[in-house]
Amino acid sequence: MDKIDYQAILERISEEIKPFCGKGKIADYIPVLAKVPANQFAMAITTVTGEEYVIGDSEVEFSIQSISKVFTLTLAMKKLGDDIWKRVNLEPSGTSFNSLVQLEYENGIPRNPFINAGAIVVSDAIYDGRGKTKNQIIRFVRDLSGNNSLYFDEEVAESERKFGHRNRAMANLTKSFGNLNNMADEVLDIYYHQCAIGMNVLDLSRSFLYLANEGVNSRTNERVISGRQTKRINSLMLTSGLYDAVGDFAYWVGLPGKSGVGGGIVAVVPSVLSVAVWSPELNESGNSLVGVKALELFTTYAQNSIF
Ligand code: GLU
Repeated sequence: MDKIDYQAILERISEEIKPFCGKGKIADYIPVLAKVPANQFAMAITTVTGEEYVIGDSEVEFSIQSISKVFTLTLAMKKLGDDIWKRVNLEPSGTSFNSLVQLEYENGIPRNPFINAGAIVVSDAIYDGRGKTKNQIIRFVRDLSGNNSLYFDEEVAESERKFGHRNRAMANLTKSFGNLNNMADEVLDIYYHQCAIGMNVLDLSRSFLYLANEGVNSRTNERVISGRQTKRINSLMLTSGLYDAVGDFAYWVGLPGKSGVGGGIVAVVPSVLSVAVWSPELNESGNSLVGVKALELFTTYAQNSIF
């Protein structure tokens, strides 16, 4: 088979997404995020064999938001194995990522680890004191990306704290059902900080490479998690990684992925590569409008999908 020219594919995509720019809306429920200039696009590919390709505003750091839920889930699975599933379910939520009604109906057991309530329970599961846990998370993400200067954007974390009324309600509701071991504010501090990590697209695609490589960080050759756990995280991303639009994403893109309201999306082609895209304007489901289109074009042109 001919070698795929990923750089040519990225160049083609960056032309073809142009008509879609300006059609979405930047998330403004976290006020600091609303300040990000809209008309930006970047994409990066990292292959398991060590090749890298970038295009667009690839130096710009953005807030990874919900994408961080994959990192903390990985830490929780390392720590607890399958025991984490006693506290969080494995089903798509079929509702918004911050629904309180569903959490009430289901007795404080969140539908999956990627809706906010699920991620808050996961943060509780890895909680070991504020400073220690935040340190563990940022070190983990630095190791995965190979970028030691990654940081928590304190301005974003503070904006989330200040306007995080629903998250506070969710954490307290979960606590009332006995599914939070630590105090809600302690756990939320971890949660807001993990969401507030800033990265560029290349950091992001590098940091997800272990999920394309059976759990091994192929740049350092270190095992992050087992092959079995890798399969499970990828399955969860496929069924719950794109808010309430996972069906659409599976249909049009055909890869496991995770998005965040900062406009980032990262996806994995098992055994081949990870691909990250960023463009801050969101569609109605809360996913990057241009990002989804770019990934659809990517799997079409590269003929790379899991199906
Ligand atoms: N920090 C955001 C929140 O809790 C995460 C949202 C997201 O990216 O889905 O609302």
